[in-house]
Amino acid sequence: MRKLVIALVVIAAGSYFALQNQTLQDHLMAAVIKSRMAQDTSELFQQDALNAMVCGSTSPFPSPKRAGPCIAIFAGDKFYIVDVGSRSWNNLALRGISAEKLGGIFITHFHSDHIAELGEYNMQSWAAGRDANLKIYGGQGIENIVAGFNQAYAHDRGFRIEHHGADYLKPETAEMVAAPITQLPKVIMQDGKLTITAFAVDHDPIDPALGYRFDYGDRSLVVSGDTVKSQSLINASKDADVLFHEAQAQHMVQQLEDTAKALGRHQLAKIFFDIRDYHTSPVEAAESAAEANVKELVLYHLTPPPPNKIAEKIFMRDVEKAGANSVQLAHDGLFYSLPLNSNTIQRQTIKAP
Ligand SMILES: [Zn+2]
Ligand SMILES: [Zn+2]
Repeated sequence: MRKLVIALVVIAAGSYFALQNQTLQDHLMAAVIKSRMAQDTSELFQQDALNAMVCGSTSPFPSPKRAGPCIAIFAGDKFYIVDVGSRSWNNLALRGISAEKLGGIFITHFHSDHIAELGEYNMQSWAAGRDANLKIYGGQGIENIVAGFNQAYAHDRGFRIEHHGADYLKPETAEMVAAPITQLPKVIMQDGKLTITAFAVDHDPIDPALGYRFDYGDRSLVVSGDTVKSQSLINASKDADVLFHEAQAQHMVQQLEDTAKALGRHQLAKIFFDIRDYHTSPVEAAESAAEANVKELVLYHLTPPPPNKIAEKIFMRDVEKAGANSVQLAHDGLFYSLPLNSNTIQRQTIKAP
């Protein structure tokens, strides 16, 4: 107890001194800048492991702790992003991601929560020195979205090229390039040990709606995108190591609808009613994982995003009865490492500083 009191007094005195003394402030600032800029991200980029991080775990529902839907996959010396939910770039940047290593973006479908930060990812990776145009993969229609973002950012591109010079911000790599995917399922990228396959899911009436499977050496992970319980997703997820699956707790959404109705908020009540027919419940996602013999299921795109342990318990109600091997509820920064030539699944949280 005495030691604790002394420690608190020392911290308080140090803080007071730092608030008064400019030299100390400058030393502290220099130390923080250096540690942030020299951040070691080698644990993300490994030649002999397939890695992934949840860069956004909420749905269109707001959350103070969760960005919009986003899964980052690290394979070799590149990383790939499935969906670019709002505030997800922040999650990556805070963790020291080398933006120039962005190798492509994979859009599951064109709902706003999945395309929100397309312009930000392109600008940030371009400014960091990406050496080729950023390719945006998606179903038919991705051309319109990419063209729209490119147009919206035309002024920004011009300002930056003029200010920093065309040697640093190269005009030829400034614009995104659309890569429309047709005839599913389809292998859309093969690069050394990495194979990326797109497949159809069922988010009716939203069409196209895709999921993606990443195979790297003998390890694999799958991202569902938005879907109801879907046989094509189960087929595509066969024996995968990790499945990132969207989840909507229907019993909680029902409660939201009832409350909205009782409060006379009919517009909101109508939306809570409508969304129930094109998402997957946590129990159904666990059933899919069990049917596909997935080693670990990670629920993300959480509707509603549980804000505390009690809400998490309600969200996960009856999930363990569905027979999945292992189920996790995602949070932002949840990181998986799958070393090649093994069955090991390493799970940790990479905290934002
Ligand atoms: Zn969504
Ligand atoms: Zn959607």
